[in-house]
Amino acid sequence: MTRGIGGDTLLVATHNRGKLEEIAALFEPRGVAVIGAADRGLPEPEETGTTFVENARIKAHAAAQATGLPALADDSGIEIDALDGAPGVYTADWAETPSGRDFEKAMRRAHDELVARGAPEPWTARFCCTLVLAWPDGTDAVFPGVMEGRVVWPMRGDQGHGYDPIFEPVGHDVTFGEMDRWAKNRISHRADAFAKLEAGLFG
Ligand code: IMP
Repeated sequence: MTRGIGGDTLLVATHNRGKLEEIAALFEPRGVAVIGAADRGLPEPEETGTTFVENARIKAHAAAQATGLPALADDSGIEIDALDGAPGVYTADWAETPSGRDFEKAMRRAHDELVARGAPEPWTARFCCTLVLAWPDGTDAVFPGVMEGRVVWPMRGDQGHGYDPIFEPVGHDVTFGEMDRWAKNRISHRADAFAKLEAGLFG
């Protein structure tokens, strides 16, 4: 079993309100209050890692050191096998434009690169979500979550976010973009990582 939180407050190293609320809902029944990085005025550290776990570690340890509280961070993205695992940790970067993030552009790039390489279908891929819980003494625990599937084209569905319209999870004939939020949240890479975190801390 993973070492406990060791107190009644957990810092979540994210500036994303949605993620914060999801994590708060998990911890509140356990008597652990959750506060966000923005509430403590923490800067967002540069994600210089080349793996999800490295980037999640950077964010979790920076927050734990800055606050003296245990801190939880996540890093996520999609790995496409025929693109040698790209975009991977650069999943969000592929969507960057001068006027903000454009995921249609990012999905089109993924498709265009698959076609340019002549990659045979199925275009196997996985969504990954790695959670890292870091303690102020410099130790940490890692909880990796995965959902296997394939990239499809054209895009299908307008639910969800990011690359959901081109990702069809194994065992389903709809994309994440065609699934309702609840169905996706039961099987997603994030749900997998959270189940491991919950089992590790409270199991
Ligand atoms: P980060 O983990 O906040 O650094 O960003 C990871 C990026 O991966 C997001 O901007 C999304 O584009 C993508 N991503 C992560 N999880 C999902 C998902 O469940 N559906 C679609 N895209 C996702």
